[in-house]
Amino acid sequence: MNVYDSEKIAVVLRPLGYELTRNVDAADLIIVNTCAIRAKAEQKAFSFLGRMAKMKRKRPNLIIGMGGCVAQQEGWKIVERMPSVDFVFGTHVIDRLPDMVARIEQKRCHLVDVKMSPGIDEYDSIADTGANRDVCRFITIMQGCDNYCTYCVVPYVRGRETSRKPEFILSEIRGLIDTGVKEVTLLGQNVNSYGQKEGLCSFAELLEKVNVLEGLERIRFTTSHPKDLSMDLMLAFQDLNKLCRHIHLPVQSGANTVLKRMNRKYTRESYLEKIEKLRQVCPTIAISSDFIAGFPGETETEFLETLDLIKTVEYDSLFAFVYSDRPNAPAAHFGDKISEAEKKARLQVLLTVQEQLTLKKNQSMVGSNQVVLVEGLSRKQPGRLKPDTQPIIQWSGRTEGNKIVNFNWTEDREIAAPDIKTGQLVDVRIKRALSHSLLGELIETQTATAGLKGDKSYAA
Ligand code: SAH
Ligand code: SF4
Repeated sequence: MNVYDSEKIAVVLRPLGYELTRNVDAADLIIVNTCAIRAKAEQKAFSFLGRMAKMKRKRPNLIIGMGGCVAQQEGWKIVERMPSVDFVFGTHVIDRLPDMVARIEQKRCHLVDVKMSPGIDEYDSIADTGANRDVCRFITIMQGCDNYCTYCVVPYVRGRETSRKPEFILSEIRGLIDTGVKEVTLLGQNVNSYGQKEGLCSFAELLEKVNVLEGLERIRFTTSHPKDLSMDLMLAFQDLNKLCRHIHLPVQSGANTVLKRMNRKYTRESYLEKIEKLRQVCPTIAISSDFIAGFPGETETEFLETLDLIKTVEYDSLFAFVYSDRPNAPAAHFGDKISEAEKKARLQVLLTVQEQLTLKKNQSMVGSNQVVLVEGLSRKQPGRLKPDTQPIIQWSGRTEGNKIVNFNWTEDREIAAPDIKTGQLVDVRIKRALSHSLLGELIETQTATAGLKGDKSYAA
């Protein structure tokens, strides 16, 4: 969500003459777009700002802004704590940002705007100008959250749940397609409840509308709250040819007692039931999840139930975090806090269990053919495998299940490698499984088609 917001920030500031730069030392304006979800993210933002403050002592004309969730949460306190920060803007301010920056340029004053608007219209008027050449892009379809999980800061810093109108979402995606985008990820804290409050269409219906957009190859979405995962949405994995067969379904804990204290409103049993249904509807679906290690009062037995759930589901991958107190979130006042050392130890156990499962899943893909959307050259090029031969070019992309695949044209083939372009769908034979990625080789004769469902074994 912050990536999407940062892209919008770049777009609205372009008319003022600002262009993005990778060289922070040369920037005239530095904006830190912050995340408040966990204490660590907040600490990172402040330590970066500390470094920028030092830079400003050498370059007093530098303008520094802080935006996003921490800015929303702390407001004026940030300027008081760090006077080198010229302006602070909250999560509903992007459309007012150019005015703010223009005023700072003229008056060199401090400004803070953390006013929250009831709607989500601020995104609708910002047309993407296509400066970002990535083929995979995020698009916010909803803002805020009404679920109030007891550990979570989102409802307090992003406000109540609000959905954007389908016509604005579709027109934004059309604009992205025109700039070469092939994959979009629809973003919301709980996409399952998209449009319900406003009486718009359902999320499954929105997906149908996106699915027919010409030129788009793949659709992903995140996040789906297990309590609201509907049969309609499950069936979309069967029916919509562009919808990638991957779902991120954060469970947080495998113990009913912890889920209750978290206010997640589902049980371990109902969650497992949904996983089973998903796999019935779409047997090859990849499933990932989020976990919190060391929620207040989490006993050893409760933690073991979480490990057991991970082994039962056999996720493709997961994200796990140590619990941290967040301002305003009720769990900050819960007793029986787990020590930092114990939380970290539990996190490590959890990650180790998953690492083995991920490797097992990846190994089971060796020998299969996968459709991969090429995202560019891989970061690590293999170089020359034999002396006096051309260096091997390695590309990188993702499978439908969101697994990273680095692949090349086999070195002993006599025909020259085809001209592979970013944004192209290609067929890749998986050759090796690593713990976080797959290695493969390009299949000679096939041209992949978006969303071929069912049997994906092509002849090489
Ligand atoms: N809306 C999504 C989650 C968004 S936050 C959902 O309901 O699933 C992303 C993840 O951050 C959460 O799934 C949770 O695992 C983690 N998280 C949120 N608050 C946290 C906290 N206080 N401490 C540790 N992890 C937290
Ligand atoms: Fe936070 Fe819960 Fe809302 Fe997700 S559903 S954003 S965890 S309050």
